[in-house]
Amino acid sequence: MDCIFCKIVAGQIPSDILYTDDKVIAFRDINPMAPVHLLIIPRLHVTSLNDMTEAQVPLIGYIIYVAKLLAERQGIAEKGYRVVVNCGRDGGQVVQHLHIHLLGGRGLINGLG
Ligand code: AMP
Repeated sequence: MDCIFCKIVAGQIPSDILYTDDKVIAFRDINPMAPVHLLIIPRLHVTSLNDMTEAQVPLIGYIIYVAKLLAERQGIAEKGYRVVVNCGRDGGQVVQHLHIHLLGGRGLINGLG
């Protein structure tokens, strides 16, 4: 499968990985929109939120938990942060492997841009 995030999971292309375990990995976004901009992804290839199954509820919940842990480790938990999932063309999803953006380190009140 020609999926860039699967290649990151497999270690076939480099990335700045901050967290890894048997279910997920997290790495810095290559084009950060905020001082802290991490992507948390399942090792399992799930194309988008549209393809999530009920059986994957624990996995996706766990990804959000890891986002919270990483927000603490990055020192942004107290001030706050944003967790974003883009889905499909209109949702602005570019990479077809489900991922959660963790953004923080600046005020995001008026949006991501
Ligand atoms: P989305 O628009 O939600 O699909 O977001 C995809 C994100 O992946 C964008 O913010 C990209 O900057 C980021 N991205 C794409 N390729 C890489 C890569 N090789 N390493 C890290 N981040 C990447």
